[in-house]
Amino acid sequence: MEPVSTYPALFDSHCHLNFPVFDQDREQVLASAAASGVTAICIPATKFSEWPSLITESAKLAKERPLNLVIALGLHPWFLSEHTHDHLIALDQLLQQQPPSVVAIGETGLDFFDRTISAQQKTIQIELFTGHVELACRHQLPLIIHSRKSHDDVLKVLRTFKPERGGIIHAFSGSEQQAQQYLNLGFKLGFGGGITYPRATKTRHLAAIMPMDSIVLETDAPDMPLNGFQGERNKPGRVKLVAECLAELRGESLMEVAESTSQNCRELFRL
Ligand SMILES: [Zn+2]
Repeated sequence: MEPVSTYPALFDSHCHLNFPVFDQDREQVLASAAASGVTAICIPATKFSEWPSLITESAKLAKERPLNLVIALGLHPWFLSEHTHDHLIALDQLLQQQPPSVVAIGETGLDFFDRTISAQQKTIQIELFTGHVELACRHQLPLIIHSRKSHDDVLKVLRTFKPERGGIIHAFSGSEQQAQQYLNLGFKLGFGGGITYPRATKTRHLAAIMPMDSIVLETDAPDMPLNGFQGERNKPGRVKLVAECLAELRGESLMEVAESTSQNCRELFRL
């Protein structure tokens, strides 16, 4: 008989472990994540310059650790001025080589949080995001999507292209109706530190009622600190606290939440 595991195997579906803020102690951060039960981490890129080192470093780190490190390649809407159309062409070419640790396209998406953003800026964001969605269709990969104040525009693009392998709507905080539309398109919702704040009643409610097969966990480390850790650098090991919070909200055990959300990631990324 297989020994029954009493340890939650957690998957942090969104962690910027490659950011310089981890340069001093990346090894310890990974060791402490592993000690918290994290068995896999997905690192999404935010700009072109990150891609080469992500590909080589994740392969190196993965070899030395029991932790499974996988990556996504994309261009984050926050760094719009640094992206060019050539980067999308480069991404297309890179994906043709099928680098082994690349499991998704992202981080991409739309961010209209800043209300002073011009119509032209929005158009450029939409063009860039659409380019990522087209590549997801061409290369049969899931997407990791960042969306703030832009769900209806994101949904419009997704409905047009219907990327077959779906993806993750990272740090979801939209409405129940929007959540349902993403699910209908085969997407999963990423929940992170946001649900640990009691004031986030709408998102906590959604995290509690959405079907378990539509949810993945994330930290977005070093960003999005959990309640009680404001002002601190976030880290992947804290995905355990997100899992505990979700378990409490849903009235399920930590093991159940860890198992289902990790399984959802493995299925999505085909691991
Ligand atoms: Zn991110």
